[in-house]
Amino acid sequence: MSVCENLIELQQKIPKNVTLVAVSKTKPVEQIKTVYDAGIRVFGENKVQELTDKYDQLPKDIQWHMIGHLQRNKVKYIAPFIHLIHSVDSIKLLREINKEGGKNKRKIPCLLQVHIALEENKHGFDQEELLELLSSGILREFQHVSVNGLMGMATYTQNQDQIRKEFSTLNTLFTDIKKRFFTESNNFNALSMGMSNDFEIAIEEGSNMIRIGSIIFGSRS
Ligand SMILES: *Cc1c(COP(=O)(O)O)cnc(C)c1O
Repeated sequence: MSVCENLIELQQKIPKNVTLVAVSKTKPVEQIKTVYDAGIRVFGENKVQELTDKYDQLPKDIQWHMIGHLQRNKVKYIAPFIHLIHSVDSIKLLREINKEGGKNKRKIPCLLQVHIALEENKHGFDQEELLELLSSGILREFQHVSVNGLMGMATYTQNQDQIRKEFSTLNTLFTDIKKRFFTESNNFNALSMGMSNDFEIAIEEGSNMIRIGSIIFGSRS
Protein backbone atom coordinates (compact mmCIF):
# COMPACT_ATOMS: atom_id res chain seq x y z
CA MET A 1 0.00 0.00 0.00
CA SER A 2 1.12 3.55 -0.58
CA VAL A 3 1.87 6.02 2.19
CA CYS A 4 -1.44 7.75 1.52
CA GLU A 5 -3.53 4.59 1.54
CA ASN A 6 -1.98 3.65 4.89
CA LEU A 7 -2.78 7.08 6.21
CA ILE A 8 -6.43 7.03 5.14
CA GLU A 9 -6.96 3.59 6.64
CA LEU A 10 -5.34 4.77 9.89
CA GLN A 11 -7.39 7.97 10.08
CA GLN A 12 -10.59 5.93 9.96
CA LYS A 13 -9.55 4.28 13.22
CA ILE A 14 -8.82 7.53 15.08
CA PRO A 15 -11.59 9.42 16.92
CA LYS A 16 -11.85 13.16 16.25
CA ASN A 17 -10.56 14.18 19.69
CA VAL A 18 -7.28 12.32 19.17
CA THR A 19 -4.34 14.20 17.63
CA LEU A 20 -2.25 12.20 15.21
CA VAL A 21 1.47 12.92 15.32
CA ALA A 22 3.08 11.47 12.19
CA VAL A 23 6.49 10.22 13.29
CA SER A 24 8.80 10.88 10.36
CA LYS A 25 12.18 10.04 11.93
CA THR A 26 14.68 8.53 9.45
CA LYS A 27 12.30 9.26 6.54
CA PRO A 28 13.29 11.61 3.69
CA VAL A 29 11.65 14.99 3.16
CA GLU A 30 10.06 13.83 -0.13
CA GLN A 31 8.07 11.22 1.77
CA ILE A 32 7.09 13.70 4.45
CA LYS A 33 5.90 16.06 1.72
CA THR A 34 3.57 13.34 0.40
CA VAL A 35 2.01 13.00 3.83
CA TYR A 36 1.87 16.79 4.16
CA ASP A 37 0.05 16.97 0.82
CA ALA A 38 -2.46 14.46 2.17
CA GLY A 39 -3.35 17.04 4.84
CA ILE A 40 -1.15 16.14 7.82
CA ARG A 41 0.46 19.11 9.59
CA VAL A 42 1.78 17.53 12.79
CA PHE A 43 5.07 15.65 12.56
CA GLY A 44 7.28 14.10 15.24
CA GLU A 45 11.04 13.61 15.26
CA ASN A 46 13.39 12.22 17.88
CA LYS A 47 16.72 13.84 16.92
CA VAL A 48 17.45 17.56 17.04
CA GLN A 49 19.73 17.69 14.00
CA GLU A 50 17.25 15.81 11.82
CA LEU A 51 14.39 17.91 13.14
CA THR A 52 16.07 21.23 12.35
CA ASP A 53 17.18 20.03 8.89
CA LYS A 54 13.62 19.03 8.05
CA TYR A 55 12.21 22.22 9.55
CA ASP A 56 14.44 24.20 7.17
CA GLN A 57 13.38 22.23 4.11
CA LEU A 58 9.65 21.76 4.63
CA PRO A 59 6.63 24.14 4.69
CA LYS A 60 6.50 26.47 7.66
CA ASP A 61 2.93 25.61 8.68
CA ILE A 62 4.09 22.20 9.93
CA GLN A 63 3.83 21.77 13.69
CA TRP A 64 7.00 19.98 14.74
CA HIS A 65 6.94 17.81 17.86
CA MET A 66 10.08 16.60 19.63
CA ILE A 67 9.36 13.09 20.89
CA GLY A 68 12.83 11.73 21.68
CA HIS A 69 15.22 12.18 24.57
CA LEU A 70 16.42 15.78 24.50
CA GLN A 71 19.87 16.90 25.61
CA ARG A 72 20.03 20.24 27.36
CA ASN A 73 22.74 21.64 25.10
CA LYS A 74 20.49 21.12 22.07
CA VAL A 75 17.36 22.87 23.32
CA LYS A 76 18.52 26.14 21.77
CA TYR A 77 18.29 24.77 18.24
CA ILE A 78 14.58 23.94 18.45
CA ALA A 79 13.43 26.61 20.91
CA PRO A 80 12.47 29.19 18.25
CA PHE A 81 9.91 27.00 16.50
CA ILE A 82 9.12 23.75 18.34
CA HIS A 83 5.38 23.23 18.75
CA LEU A 84 5.49 20.63 21.54
CA ILE A 85 8.23 18.78 23.42
CA HIS A 86 6.85 15.40 24.57
CA SER A 87 9.96 14.14 26.29
CA VAL A 88 10.71 16.37 29.27
CA ASP A 89 12.26 14.04 31.83
CA SER A 90 14.15 16.24 34.30
CA ILE A 91 13.95 19.55 36.12
CA LYS A 92 17.31 20.53 34.63
CA LEU A 93 15.85 20.13 31.16
CA LEU A 94 12.78 22.17 32.11
CA ARG A 95 15.05 24.92 33.40
CA GLU A 96 16.97 24.96 30.12
CA ILE A 97 13.78 25.02 28.04
CA ASN A 98 12.59 27.91 30.18
CA LYS A 99 15.81 29.81 29.58
CA GLU A 100 15.63 29.32 25.80
CA GLY A 101 11.93 30.12 25.80
CA GLY A 102 12.83 33.44 27.42
CA LYS A 103 15.47 34.22 24.82
CA ASN A 104 12.91 33.55 22.10
CA LYS A 105 10.20 35.49 23.93
CA ARG A 106 7.84 32.55 23.92
CA LYS A 107 6.31 29.97 26.20
CA ILE A 108 7.40 26.54 24.99
CA PRO A 109 4.69 23.85 25.23
CA CYS A 110 5.93 20.69 26.97
CA LEU A 111 4.70 17.33 28.18
CA LEU A 112 6.23 15.60 31.17
CA GLN A 113 7.36 12.11 30.25
CA VAL A 114 6.42 9.45 32.77
CA HIS A 115 8.21 6.12 33.11
CA ILE A 116 5.46 3.50 32.95
CA ALA A 117 7.21 0.61 31.20
CA LEU A 118 8.99 -2.35 32.73
CA GLU A 119 12.13 -1.59 30.71
CA GLU A 120 14.72 0.39 32.63
CA ASN A 121 16.19 2.05 29.55
CA LYS A 122 13.11 4.11 28.86
CA HIS A 123 13.24 7.70 30.04
CA GLY A 124 10.82 9.68 32.20
CA PHE A 125 9.89 10.66 35.72
CA ASP A 126 8.68 8.00 38.14
CA GLN A 127 5.25 8.72 39.54
CA GLU A 128 6.72 9.76 42.89
CA GLU A 129 9.26 12.07 41.31
CA LEU A 130 6.55 13.66 39.24
CA LEU A 131 4.26 14.32 42.21
CA GLU A 132 7.21 15.73 44.12
CA LEU A 133 8.04 18.07 41.24
CA LEU A 134 4.47 19.29 40.96
CA SER A 135 4.00 19.70 44.72
CA SER A 136 7.21 21.70 45.01
CA GLY A 137 5.66 24.58 43.05
CA ILE A 138 8.86 24.97 41.06
CA LEU A 139 6.92 25.04 37.80
CA ARG A 140 5.76 28.54 38.67
CA GLU A 141 9.35 29.70 38.27
CA PHE A 142 9.30 28.63 34.65
CA GLN A 143 7.38 31.42 32.99
CA HIS A 144 8.52 30.40 29.52
CA VAL A 145 7.35 26.80 29.76
CA SER A 146 3.77 25.64 29.42
CA VAL A 147 3.19 22.17 30.86
CA ASN A 148 0.39 20.83 28.67
CA GLY A 149 0.14 17.22 29.78
CA LEU A 150 1.87 13.87 30.08
CA MET A 151 3.57 11.41 27.74
CA GLY A 152 4.37 7.75 28.25
CA MET A 153 5.61 4.70 26.41
CA ALA A 154 4.36 1.23 27.26
CA THR A 155 6.58 -1.82 27.53
CA TYR A 156 7.49 -3.34 24.18
CA THR A 157 5.65 -6.64 24.54
CA GLN A 158 3.00 -8.86 22.97
CA ASN A 159 1.22 -8.94 26.32
CA GLN A 160 -1.80 -6.72 25.69
CA ASP A 161 -2.90 -6.81 29.33
CA GLN A 162 0.45 -5.41 30.43
CA ILE A 163 0.23 -2.59 27.87
CA ARG A 164 -3.35 -1.80 28.87
CA LYS A 165 -2.41 -1.73 32.54
CA GLU A 166 0.40 0.74 31.91
CA PHE A 167 -1.76 3.08 29.81
CA SER A 168 -4.55 2.89 32.35
CA THR A 169 -2.09 3.81 35.12
CA LEU A 170 -0.92 6.82 33.14
CA ASN A 171 -4.46 7.96 32.43
CA THR A 172 -5.33 7.79 36.13
CA LEU A 173 -2.23 9.79 36.98
CA PHE A 174 -3.07 12.35 34.29
CA THR A 175 -6.60 12.88 35.61
CA ASP A 176 -5.32 13.08 39.17
CA ILE A 177 -2.62 15.61 38.37
CA LYS A 178 -4.96 17.76 36.32
CA LYS A 179 -7.36 17.93 39.26
CA ARG A 180 -4.71 18.53 41.90
CA PHE A 181 -2.31 20.89 40.18
CA PHE A 182 -3.85 22.41 37.09
CA THR A 183 -7.34 23.56 38.04
CA GLU A 184 -6.53 27.13 37.09
CA SER A 185 -4.93 26.27 33.78
CA ASN A 186 -6.76 25.32 30.62
CA ASN A 187 -3.61 23.98 29.04
CA PHE A 188 -3.04 20.69 30.83
CA ASN A 189 -5.00 18.62 28.33
CA ALA A 190 -2.70 16.34 26.36
CA LEU A 191 -2.21 12.68 27.15
CA SER A 192 0.34 11.42 24.62
CA MET A 193 0.37 7.64 24.53
CA GLY A 194 0.21 5.03 21.81
CA MET A 195 2.45 4.08 18.88
CA SER A 196 1.92 1.88 15.81
CA ASN A 197 1.74 -1.37 17.76
CA ASP A 198 -0.41 -0.21 20.67
CA PHE A 199 -2.38 2.92 19.69
CA GLU A 200 -5.77 1.21 19.74
CA ILE A 201 -5.32 0.11 23.35
CA ALA A 202 -3.98 3.59 24.18
CA ILE A 203 -7.09 5.27 22.78
CA GLU A 204 -9.35 2.89 24.69
CA GLU A 205 -7.43 3.84 27.82
CA GLY A 206 -7.86 7.58 27.32
CA SER A 207 -5.09 8.77 25.02
CA ASN A 208 -5.80 11.93 23.03
CA MET A 209 -2.46 12.10 21.20
CA ILE A 210 -0.86 9.19 19.36
CA ARG A 211 2.60 9.05 17.81
CA ILE A 212 2.56 6.89 14.71
CA GLY A 213 5.54 6.12 12.48
CA SER A 214 5.62 2.67 10.88
CA ILE A 215 1.94 2.44 9.99
CA ILE A 216 2.19 5.60 7.91
CA PHE A 217 5.73 5.50 6.55
CA GLY A 218 6.51 1.77 6.64
CA SER A 219 9.06 0.13 8.88
CA ARG A 220 12.40 1.82 9.53
CA SER A 221 15.62 0.07 8.58
C1 LIG B 1 9.67 6.09 16.95
C2 LIG B 1 8.75 6.56 18.00
C3 LIG B 1 7.36 6.47 17.82
C4 LIG B 1 6.70 5.84 16.62
O1 LIG B 1 6.97 4.46 16.55
P1 LIG B 1 6.18 3.51 15.54
O2 LIG B 1 6.22 2.19 16.21
O3 LIG B 1 6.95 3.54 14.26
O4 LIG B 1 4.80 4.03 15.38
C5 LIG B 1 6.55 6.98 18.84
N1 LIG B 1 7.06 7.55 19.94
C6 LIG B 1 8.39 7.65 20.14
C7 LIG B 1 8.87 8.28 21.40
C8 LIG B 1 9.28 7.16 19.19
O5 LIG B 1 10.59 7.26 19.41
